[in-house]
Amino acid sequence: MPIYEYGCKDCRRKTTVFLRSFSVEPKALVCDSCGGSNLVRLISRVAVVKSEAARMEAMADPSSWGGVDENDPKSIAKMMRSMQNQMGEAVDPQMEEAIEKMEQGEIPDEPSYGGGMEDF
Ligand SMILES: [Zn+2]
Repeated sequence: MPIYEYGCKDCRRKTTVFLRSFSVEPKALVCDSCGGSNLVRLISRVAVVKSEAARMEAMADPSSWGGVDENDPKSIAKMMRSMQNQMGEAVDPQMEEAIEKMEQGEIPDEPSYGGGMEDF
């Protein structure tokens, strides 16, 4: 959730604004303290938009995956989904199928691909 800080020119207090989404810009902002509307956006301490490099870095850091249980296929699937979202790219169908299996609690091990695959 993006957090913006505004400074009030009237009373010189700070007002913190929580936005529900990244795309909504608050329109009628008023100061929490005096009700004035002379607010100026302050540079937020919170990095709302990460750079591409920072995103890749976060992905490379396993702790940012939020405690993936390697023995729990659903947990792995969740992590992979989140990586997918970060990449913003389509996944190849085989990977997609594997993730779907894991979401159902199955472990898509290699032999399960066997069988019919050679027909393609
Ligand atoms: Zn004020």
